[in-house]
Amino acid sequence: MEQGKAIIFCAPSGSGKTTLVKHLLEVNNNLGFSISACTRDKRGRNEVHGKDYYFLSIEEFNKKIDENAFVEWEEVYPGGYYGTLKTEIERLWSQGKNVIFDVDVKGGLRLKEYFGDQALAIFVKVPSMEELEKRLINRGTETEESLSKRLYKVKFEMAFQNRFDVVLLNDDLESSFKKTEDVYQSFCEGTLQIDKKPLNL
Ligand code: ADP
Ligand code: 5GP
Repeated sequence: MEQGKAIIFCAPSGSGKTTLVKHLLEVNNNLGFSISACTRDKRGRNEVHGKDYYFLSIEEFNKKIDENAFVEWEEVYPGGYYGTLKTEIERLWSQGKNVIFDVDVKGGLRLKEYFGDQALAIFVKVPSMEELEKRLINRGTETEESLSKRLYKVKFEMAFQNRFDVVLLNDDLESSFKKTEDVYQSFCEGTLQIDKKPLNL
């Protein structure tokens, strides 16, 4: 099977990575989304099994761990397990696509190590904590408890940003769409200079 590229998006929850990933998928038909497995409940009627996530019970998730079915998995929140399935990567590469990942920071760094030069790892940043909180509240998906769990992790996650290839500030959304498109294109063309220090966009 021809191996494609791996585009990894990480960020504290609420930074806008899902919005940027969806945009990139809309404007590039050579990209496919790696649908993760997770043990959290679906958010209302908006989320679909096999499209947003494979929603598994904890027993099903543990069985996949035992079967060595994951490239990486994490307990992202206490009691909330998420993982990247090997079969997802095979599914998308067999269609000749590059794979895009929306995973937590630790999972993202694992994937970057796993894919080596084939990977582009992007950390999405918000202008401030206040803005992050505002976005999470406006998204209308969080309870008070899940909001505080997410905010609690932000500082920890921000500490890893220097280990990414690109740090993308998601301030004005239209500019972020353009930055995302441009960086993906130059990575595919092989003209993106990847250094030890992240490229700040
Ligand atoms: P994440 O996937 O990182 O948790 P989302 O993509 O779900 O974040 O974005 C969180 C919320 O912020 C969503 O309601 C989204 O519409 C909004 N959002 C994303 N980017 C911006 C931006 N640049 N300016 C304002 N709001 C944004
Ligand atoms: P949410 O519950 O908001 O959809 O996702 C919570 C967090 O889990 C996000 O940071 C998301 O990127 C991360 N996540 C989603 N899928 C995976 C995965 O397969 N592996 C890891 N490590 N994290 C994931």
